[in-house]
Amino acid sequence: MPRIDEKLLPIFEDVLRRNAGESEFHQAVEEVLESLGCVISKHPEYADNALIERICEPERQIIFRVPWVDDKGQVRINRGFRVQFNSALGPYKGGLRFHPSVNVGIIKFLGFEQTFKNALTGMPIGGGKGGSDFNPRGRSDGEIMRFCQSFMTELYRHLGEYTDVPAGDIGVGGREIGFLFGQYKRLTNRYEAGVLTGKGLNYGGSRARTEATGYGAVYFVDQMMRTRGTSFEGKRAVVSGSGNVAIYTIEKIHEFGGKAIACSDSSGYIVDENGIDLELLKEVKFNRRGRVRDYAALRGNGVHHSEKGSIWAVPCEVAMPSATQNELDGTDAQTLIKNGLIAVGEGANMPSTPDAIRQFQEANILFGPAKAANAGGVATSALEMQQNASRDSWTFEETERRLATIMRRIHDSCAETADKYGAPGNYVLGANITGFVRVADAMRSLGVV
Ligand code: GLU
Repeated sequence: MPRIDEKLLPIFEDVLRRNAGESEFHQAVEEVLESLGCVISKHPEYADNALIERICEPERQIIFRVPWVDDKGQVRINRGFRVQFNSALGPYKGGLRFHPSVNVGIIKFLGFEQTFKNALTGMPIGGGKGGSDFNPRGRSDGEIMRFCQSFMTELYRHLGEYTDVPAGDIGVGGREIGFLFGQYKRLTNRYEAGVLTGKGLNYGGSRARTEATGYGAVYFVDQMMRTRGTSFEGKRAVVSGSGNVAIYTIEKIHEFGGKAIACSDSSGYIVDENGIDLELLKEVKFNRRGRVRDYAALRGNGVHHSEKGSIWAVPCEVAMPSATQNELDGTDAQTLIKNGLIAVGEGANMPSTPDAIRQFQEANILFGPAKAANAGGVATSALEMQQNASRDSWTFEETERRLATIMRRIHDSCAETADKYGAPGNYVLGANITGFVRVADAMRSLGVV
């Protein structure tokens, strides 16, 4: 595993000092800086004018109070965030996460990653991320609506189709985007469809946006497997999580002839050796807002539900971590490798710890990092913005066709960059360098801003 080049070390030390305690942000920056040593020795101009220091510093960070009233009439307070990380390539773009673990460090790591991911898509979008420590679990529709309205009452002044375009992430799906868009429209008295993505199909959303992150991750892994003359056909896959990303990852794996046998949530994981019954999983998760243990109870015999232990102990050839950051550690990686793993595609953001990534690379496992593998979601958000701007709407097939092309291009550019820097097959290096160079080139043209 490369270490940070000594020329870049002072930059990293400054990031640690100026962002004390934000361990996820440190982790995300460290991984990118580790990839950049070979770039600045070949092209020292990228280190001029404090360019790398500027890339590590968000352009703007907004933190605000979100007061709301619960169903019992009690006043509640949460904290809202929007980190507008980098706008060299386009308006800030990235999701909102509603989860009790959210803090400024988590939003900064996500915004930092988003900047490079968005650059990798080749679309004109900058990087940003936001959210709140609000916990939607167990909240009524009315409470969710009042929370979203209060959140937007502050955030709207910082948004705009040319300024900052949020979307969903953990805890924010179609229902929340609807409430957020309704309040934005009311406050601004403008029908500005392109200010949010992930909208419903009945008011300006794009077909295939819901499916895009999961589908895109499977396209990416498929491309990686092709480089070794193999495919999903007949392969066992484990997909952690059971949200939007996991569900459509499973759907596409099945379409590609593989078999997804396990998924999870905070209630544990399930193993269904016959392959996950997606209709049932969608019913449990989307309609009932239930847990995977409910899936096990409804599906009956042959499904194993475990509250303890790691989903990564389930033997498989393809692992697609699609739950959350740092959910797959070095020990999990060792178990997966021992059990015959051939490929990993990260559907979540930064789900593998640095130790896990090192183990995968040492064992020559195909490893598709989040920035590249899960970029299909935000790429399709950019397609939604395109449709909104031209007041058009495309068919599912047309939108998915474009998504597939984008994923192939992302794969190929990461692979080419890795080759160019003497590390064939290293998609981590390929993704970090390709994303960095695109953002850095634009920043150099724009001067010191
Ligand atoms: N939250 C998603 C991501 O991590 C999607 C962001 C978007 O569509 O703007 O990339």
